Amino acid sequence: MTYTGREVERLVAKGEAALERIARAVEKGVELNEKMLALATEEPMTIEPGPPVCPFCGMLNPTVHSQERAGSGPMAEMVLILICGNCDMSFVAVPDGWTNVASPIEAQAILEGRRSDIGSISDSNSA
Ligand SMILES: [Zn+2]
Repeated sequence: MTYTGREVERLVAKGEAALERIARAVEKGVELNEKMLALATEEPMTIEPGPPVCPFCGMLNPTVHSQERAGSGPMAEMVLILICGNCDMSFVAVPDGWTNVASPIEAQAILEGRRSDIGSISDSNSA
């Protein structure tokens, strides 16, 4: 196959454009790798436990949905994948401490205490 000078010029220009795109993609990949490396070597995040607030919309005690599937693993590593009913974003709730009781009645008593605690938080926020 033979090419005219004009066709060769066009092919070279196409090749150069493709190489530029590849170079930009590689540069972007290097930047992302550097950012990931920086994150990995940073001090571990310390987030203090607090009231039940959606990390996206900030709503206190939103109704949440769970699509948990049955699974197993160490209790200390259990997390909840929740979807905020207010903003529809999915987030991970990491239980920080446990109050373990033997019956649903005992659990109900604890939850009633929490309800009044959250009521006092939202009262003080709206005041
Ligand atoms: Zn939300």
